[in-house]
Amino acid sequence: MNWIFHKYGWFLKSILAIEVLVISLMIFENAIIIYIPFILGNILDSILNGTLTTNSLKLETTKIITLSFILFLISFIWGKYLFRNSILLEKLLKGKFNKFVLSRDLHFFNKNKSGDLLTNLNNDTQSISHIMGEGILSVNNIMITTPMYIFAMIYFVDWRLTLVSLIPLPLIAISIHYLGKLINKRASSMFQSFGKMNNHIVDSITGMKVIRSTVNEEKNIDAFRHVSYEVAKENKKLSLINAMFWPSISIIMGVSLAISLIYGTYLIINGTITIGELVTFTFYQAQLSFPMFAFGSLVNTLQSAKASDDRMDQVYQQSYNNENDNKEIRNLNQVQSINFNNLTFNYPSNNTTVLKDISFKILEGDMIGIVGKTGSGKSTLLQLLLKSYSDPANNILVSGIPINEIPISNYLELIGYVPQDHILFSGSIEDNLKYANGKANQEELISVLKLVCLWDEIMFMDQGLRTLIGERGTKLSGGQQQRLSIARALLKDPELLLLDDPLSAVDIHTAEQIINNLKKYRQGKTTILCTHRMEILEDADKIFVLDNGEIIEKGSHLELLNQEGWYMQQYMKQKLQNKLLNFEDKEF
Ligand code: ADP
Repeated sequence: MNWIFHKYGWFLKSILAIEVLVISLMIFENAIIIYIPFILGNILDSILNGTLTTNSLKLETTKIITLSFILFLISFIWGKYLFRNSILLEKLLKGKFNKFVLSRDLHFFNKNKSGDLLTNLNNDTQSISHIMGEGILSVNNIMITTPMYIFAMIYFVDWRLTLVSLIPLPLIAISIHYLGKLINKRASSMFQSFGKMNNHIVDSITGMKVIRSTVNEEKNIDAFRHVSYEVAKENKKLSLINAMFWPSISIIMGVSLAISLIYGTYLIINGTITIGELVTFTFYQAQLSFPMFAFGSLVNTLQSAKASDDRMDQVYQQSYNNENDNKEIRNLNQVQSINFNNLTFNYPSNNTTVLKDISFKILEGDMIGIVGKTGSGKSTLLQLLLKSYSDPANNILVSGIPINEIPISNYLELIGYVPQDHILFSGSIEDNLKYANGKANQEELISVLKLVCLWDEIMFMDQGLRTLIGERGTKLSGGQQQRLSIARALLKDPELLLLDDPLSAVDIHTAEQIINNLKKYRQGKTTILCTHRMEILEDADKIFVLDNGEIIEKGSHLELLNQEGWYMQQYMKQKLQNKLLNFEDKEF
C-alpha cells in the first residue's frame, strides 16, 4: 500500500475534495441502507404483535420507496465523480509514458519491443488507474460500511449476536492473502503473453509485404494462433483464480449467517431479541458481505496494479543516454563546425567495434560525402551525430560544444535527416511535407519539390499536392518516396542536413541533378551525404571513405582519384557500368 502514497500521493491530494464528497455521500447512503431493514423489522414485529394498521403500513412503504429514489441519486452522483478519477489518472499515465518513450535514444528501442511498450501503454496504465476508481470504492466500502453495519448490528439488535457472527470473518482475510498472491503471479504472466501477442501483431503489420512475397501467410497465421492461444491460456488461469475468489468468500459468509441464525433463534427463545430484530440483523449481515467482497476486490486491484507498476518501472528505469543531466546544458543556434576527435564506438548488444578512432573536421557550408561498403559504419556515424546514441567520451563537438551538452530538442531543431528507410505517413503529399514545417506556404512546398526534381511528376497527378500517398507512401514509387523524404527535410531549411543513402532508387541523371540543386540551394549550410554512388559526389567539398569502421581515404573527388585507392576503383567501376547501361538503352 505504501507504494501508492509514495508514487501517487500527488494524485490522491489533487482529488481530496472529490474524495471527501464521495465519502460524505457514502455515509449518507449507508445510513439509509441501515434504516430500511430497521423499518422492515418493525413492520414484521407489528404484524406478529397484531399492532399494524393500514395507515402505518402505507406510511412505512412510502418511506421505503422515497428512500430508494434518494439512494439511486446518491450512488449516481458518487459513481460519476469516483470513476472520473480513474479515467483522469489513466490519461495522465498514458501521456507521461508516451512522452518518456518518444524521448528515448535508439538503445532503448533496440532493447524494448514495440508490442511490450504497447502493452505498457494500454493495459498497465489502465490497471494502475483502477486504484483510483475501484480501489478507492473498495477502501470506502471497507472503512465506512463495515463500522456502520457493525454499529447498527450492536445498537439495533444485540452485541453478543454481532460478536458471534463475526467469528468466521478472519478466514476471509487468510484466503484473500493467498489467492491475492496467486492473482498477482497469474496477472504478470497474462500481461507478458499479451505483450508477445502485441509484438507479433506489430511485426506482422509492418512486415506484411515480406510475408506476402515469401508466401508466409499460413505460417504467420499459425504463429499468431500460438501466441493468442498463450494469451487465452493465461487468461483462463487468471479467471480460474478469480472464479475461486468470490465463492470462497460466499462460503465463509454463509457459515457466518448460519451461526447467527442458530444463536439468534436461541436469543429469541430467551426473549433477548424479537423475530423482527433477527430479520433486521440478517439484512445487516448480508450487507456486510459487500465490504468483504470489496476487500477481495481491493486485493485484486492492488495486486494487478502493483504488477503493472513494476513492469512500467522497469521501462522507466532505463536511463536516458543522450543527455548527461549533471553536465552543463548549452544551447546552439548555428552549426559552425563539427569535430570528431578519436571517436570509437560499439553497440552494447554487439561487442565488435563499429567505428574506430574516427577524427575529422567539417566546416559550416561544407558538402561532405561519406562512402564505404555496406556495414562499414556510415549510418552509425550519422546516428551518433543525431544524438541517437550517447557519445560516452565527448568525442563529438558541434560548434566547439560536446554534443552531450546540447539539449536534444534544441539540437534536433537545427538538423534535417533523411533515413535510408525513408518514413512517410498516410495522408497527402502536402501533409507529409508540412510535417517538417507546418507554416510553409504553397510556393515553398513547390520550391522544395522542384529542388528534388519531383514537382514535374506531382503537377500531373489528379490531386496535385493533395494526392493521398497511402499508408507509408505505398502509392508512390520508391524513387518518389525518397525524393519526397528529401523535400520534407529541405522544407525545414536545416543548418545541418544528414542524408543516409537517400537516392538509391533514383536514376543517376536525376540523382546528379538533385545533388547539384542541393549544392546551390544550401550554400552556407552544411550537408553530409552517405552514399554508395561516387558519381554524385564529384562536387563534394570533402569525401571520407570508411572501411570496417575506419577512415581509410579522405580528400576531394579529384584528390581521391589521384590516390588510386578503393574510391578510385569503385568510381571507375560505376562509371563503366553506367556507360554500359546507357549503351544498352540506346541499342534498344
Ligand atoms: P552502413 O551504414 O555503412 O551500412 P551501419 O552503420 O549500418 O553500416 O553498420 C555498421 C555495423 O554496425 C554493422 O556491422 C552492423 O551490423 C552494426 N550495427 C548497426 N546497427 C546496429 C544495432 N542497432 N545494434 C548492433 N549492431 C548494429
